[in-house]
Parts: sequence; structure tokens; C-alpha cells
Amino acid sequence: MTSTSLQMRCPVCNGQSFQAGPQIFDDRYGQAHIFNLASCKNCRHLATAPRLSESDLPALYGTYYPRKAINAAQVAQEAAKILKPQAALRRWWNGTDNQGQYSVRAGQSMLDVGCGSGCSLLEAQALGAKAFGIEADPNVRPIAQALGLSIHFGSLQDEPFPGQRFDLIVMNQVIEHLPDPDQALRQLAQRLAPEGRLFLVMPNTESIWKRLSGTRWINWHIPYHQHHFNQRNFIRMAQACGLKMVRKRTITPNVWTVLQVRSMFSKPQLGMPSPIWAVSPPAAQDSAMNSGANPVKVIVRGVILTGIALVNRITDALGQGDSLLVELQSERVS
Ligand SMILES: [Zn+2]
Repeated sequence: MTSTSLQMRCPVCNGQSFQAGPQIFDDRYGQAHIFNLASCKNCRHLATAPRLSESDLPALYGTYYPRKAINAAQVAQEAAKILKPQAALRRWWNGTDNQGQYSVRAGQSMLDVGCGSGCSLLEAQALGAKAFGIEADPNVRPIAQALGLSIHFGSLQDEPFPGQRFDLIVMNQVIEHLPDPDQALRQLAQRLAPEGRLFLVMPNTESIWKRLSGTRWINWHIPYHQHHFNQRNFIRMAQACGLKMVRKRTITPNVWTVLQVRSMFSKPQLGMPSPIWAVSPPAAQDSAMNSGANPVKVIVRGVILTGIALVNRITDALGQGDSLLVELQSERVS
């Protein structure tokens, strides 16, 4: 079994041959195929095999990927938190600072590729920036219209916002979903303003939680994640695309840890969606959070969440956190 060879292009080293690894399947949403966690024979980059093509993605996401039922008012309410006192401290404690828009500065132009509901664009606007987004999901269109957001519905390949260059281009948890991440980096590098920065966030395959959970790590997220980067291989790929690293760090959202622990106590079955990942309406989530009539439960829950936050802030500081943030600049800038 271990000698099984798979033909697939490596975006890091351009090698063509992967070695088959553990079998793994969609333990969240019940896509009923078994995939392989393969490693490049040349550079050890990890990738999902068989690789999906761009044309497979609409059917995959349309069938399995749940979308939260959200409206414009909820998005605006969420984005307004950025102006609350101690917002940055709260994000640090909760591990939700792992998003590129928080580093935008007043007067800059920002593009968020895969901007989802558009919350990041509103946050960037609140920080004084001009914000643009690209999103594949047409369900976001009414929200964009209601909030007056500049979102192109389509992909990067459409070359939206012609002539516009950006001081900050953000990709929050998107690059790992793309079959050809190196091609996307080359396209994005073309859209950077002089001295512009590219801010990418992705799962970190060298995190402590990945080491502890092995094939049960929630961030394999197969088959939606096509590539699984470590710092060395990601930076090598970026360099081949004419980008150099300016800064990197790791952050673990506390909610990921809660989901990781719950996931390790569950027994995923092929083709069956997991209740852990079911999207419940916001009203149900609110009532679940406020089910604290029992004071003992409230205290126990508070102690556990504080412990998780402390552990995560320490592992982040050691560079072992679950998401990897990398800031890049064009090689042409000295
Ligand atoms: Zn390789």
C-alpha cells in the first residue's frame, strides 16, 4: 500500500508524483467518497487525492456545503463589533484575529478574495479603507446590494475591477480550497499596488492540534481542502510566484478547539453529515449559549473556555497554532 504512486502536479515544486497516504473522508458534511492524504515524493507537500478540478467545485459546494441563513442586518451588526472598546483585545483572546482585514489602514484599498457575507468589507470600511470583494456564492448578492458593497460575483479568473490595484489583498481560509493555488498567487501578485501586501490565512499542518489528532484533525476538511501547507512549503511556493515573506504568525480560534475536542469524541461515518457541524439558525445558537439557568454549568463552561483560551494563546506564541497567517510582498519591491 505504502508504495502506491499517484500522478498529480505539486504546486510547490512542480513535481508530478505523490505517494499515497492515509485514507480520509468528509467527516463534516457527508460527501460519500474516500480520498487519500498524499505527499509529494519530492518536497513532501500534502495534498488531497484525487485532485478536484475547478469545474467539480460548484456541484460539490452546492450539494454539501451548508450556508448560514444570514441577512444584511446580521452582517452589519457583526461588523460593528470592530468599533467596540477593546475589540482587538477580544479578538486576541478569542483567537479570531486570524483575518487579513484587521491589518488594513485608513486610506488603503483592500480586496478580499472569497469574501463570503461581506462582513470583512464592512470592517475594512469602518477602519477607513476602500473595500472590494470577490465571491463565488450568488446567495450573497442581496446582502451586497442592501449594504452597498462592491462585490464581484464570480472568480479571480474574470479579472474583476479592471485597472484597480490594491494596497492589501486578503484571502481568509481560501487558498487551501483551490486546485491550483500557485496560479492564484501569480494572478494576485499582478493586482498589488507598489508596496502592496498579500495577506493569506490557511490551516497550519505543523500545529499542536494536528500532532495530537492525526487524521482526525478538523482542518484536513477533505475534500474541500485540496492542499495542506506547512510554513516552509507555502513560502517556497510563494517565492516561485515572485512573492517574498514579510511576516508570519499562527493563531488558533478558540471555537476551533471546541470543535476539535467534540470531533475527537464523535464517530464519523462515511456519507453521513456530523451533527457537530450542522448549521443551526442564529436564534437556536443564541438560546444554546443562554441555556445557563444552571449556575454550576455556567461556571464549569467558563473554566473550560478560559483554559482553552490560555492554552491557545501560549501555543500561538510558540508558532504551533492551528491557522497560519502569512504576509507577502512582491519580490520587485526592495
Ligand atoms: Zn512537491
